[in-house]
Amino acid sequence: MSASGAAPHVVVVGAGAFGGWTALALRRRGANVTLVDAWGPGNSRASSGGETRVIRATYGSRTIYTRLAVRALQLWTEYDARWQRGFFRKTGALWMFGAQTGAAAANQPGGSHTDDPAAFGRASVAALREVGLPIEELTPAQAARRFPQISFEGVSGVLWEPEAGYLFARRACEHVVDRFIAEGGRYQRAKIRTPPAIEGALREITTAENVRMAADVFVFACGPWLPEIFPDLLGDKITPTRQEVYYFGTPAGDARFVDPSMPVWIDYRDRLFYGIPGNANRGFKVADDTPGPRIDPTTMARDATPSGIAAARALLEARFPLLQGAPLLGSEVCQYEASPDSHYIVDRHPAAPNVWIAGGGSGHGFKMGPAIGEMLASLALGTATPDPQFGLARLVARSGDRREAR
Ligand SMILES: Cc1cc2nc3c(=O)[nH]c(=O)nc-3n(C[C@H](O)[C@H](O)[C@H](O)COP(=O)(O)OP(=O)(O)OC[C@H]3O[C@@H](n4cnc5c(N)ncnc54)[C@H](O)[C@@H]3O)c2cc1C
Repeated sequence: MSASGAAPHVVVVGAGAFGGWTALALRRRGANVTLVDAWGPGNSRASSGGETRVIRATYGSRTIYTRLAVRALQLWTEYDARWQRGFFRKTGALWMFGAQTGAAAANQPGGSHTDDPAAFGRASVAALREVGLPIEELTPAQAARRFPQISFEGVSGVLWEPEAGYLFARRACEHVVDRFIAEGGRYQRAKIRTPPAIEGALREITTAENVRMAADVFVFACGPWLPEIFPDLLGDKITPTRQEVYYFGTPAGDARFVDPSMPVWIDYRDRLFYGIPGNANRGFKVADDTPGPRIDPTTMARDATPSGIAAARALLEARFPLLQGAPLLGSEVCQYEASPDSHYIVDRHPAAPNVWIAGGGSGHGFKMGPAIGEMLASLALGTATPDPQFGLARLVARSGDRREAR
C-alpha cells in the first residue's frame, strides 16, 4: 500500500522478458501498474526479440540458477496450461562436451559460459540431482544410437536433460503484455528519458515527448539500454555484445531435424554453439554463444557477417552431416546485455529507495522471466529483500575482474 492506503502505483520501464513478467506479477498482486516500452514487447532490437530461447536447469556450479530454473519451468508450465498457447516446447536438451584446447580456454572472454566443459557437466549433474530434476549421463555411442542424425565426433561426454526445451520468445513477450492489459494493467509506447541525477526517492520520470509520469515505485528493466539510462551506475557493469543467430533449411518433409525428433542441443568444446529445432518453421537454428564486440543496441546494423555464417556452417556440417550444403534461410542479430561475471542484476538503485533495476541477463535471462517477475514484484512491494548474488555491490567489489567465472 502507498502512504494513502491506496494500491501503490508502479511504473515498469521495458516490456521484455524481465519487465513484462514483472508488470504482470505486480498487477496480479493488486498494484496499479503502468508498463512503458519504446518499441514494444519482444521488438526486433530487444534482447527478448527473435523466435526462440533455450530453457534448461543445467548451470554447472551456479546452483542459484538451477533453483531459479526449477521455479521458471514450473511457471512456464502453469502459464502454458492456463493460456493454451504452447510457448514452452519440452524437447529435452542434449549437451555434448569435448576437450578445450589451452588456447581456447585462455581466450574465454568471460561470457555466459566460462567453465571447463567437463567440470560444468559434472557440477550440473550434481545440481540437478540435488533439486530432483532428471539428468542422464550418456556415452557418445549411446547418444549416437538415440540420435542417429547427429555426429558425435570429438565429443567425450553427453548429458541428456529431459525437462529442458525451448520457448517462443517474442510471441510470449507480446502475450504477457496482452494478458497484463486484460488484467487491468496500462501499457504505453514511449521512450523514457535518462532521469536526472538521482538523490533520494524518485518522484517522476519523463518521456521523450516531455510527458511526466509520477509513481510510488519505478522498475527499470531496459535490458541492453540500462547503461544508457544509468550511465554512471551501469556504464561499466552492463556491456551489450553483438550476437548472431542463423536459420538453415532442412530437407522438405524431413522430420529428423524438428521436434520431437530433434531436441535443443548444446555443443560445448572450444566454443559453445547451440541450436533449437522448429523456430516457427523458420529453419534449423544455430548460434555461437561467444560474446561479440560491444555495440549500441539502437543503431547496430543487424546483418549477419560472412565470418559468423562460415563458423555456424562449419559447426552445422560437422555435427549434422546430413545438412551439408543446407541453404541459409535467414538470420537475426541480437545482443547479450552482459554483466562482468554474467550474473543478473536485480537490485535497488543505491541512491533511490523506490527505484529497482533488473537486467544483466548475460545471454541466459529469457527462461527466467516469470521467476524474475515474481522476485521483482516482491521486492518492489517491499515483501522481500534483494539477493546479494544479484546485487550491485558485488560488481563494485569485483570491478574490472572480467574473468570471474560461473
Ligand atoms: C541471440 C541471443 C540468444 C539468447 N539465448 C537465450 C537462451 O537460449 N535462453 C535464455 O534464457 N536467454 C537467452 N538469451 C538472453 C535473453 O534473451 C535476455 O537475457 C533477455 O531476453 C533479456 O530481457 P530484458 O527484459 O532484460 O531485456 P529486453 O528484452 O531488451 O527488454 C528491454 C526493453 O526495454 C525497452 N526500452 C529500453 N530503453 C527504453 C526506454 N528508454 N524507454 C522505454 N523502453 C525502453 C526496449 O524496447 C526493450 O523492449 C539470449 C539472448 C540473445 C541476444
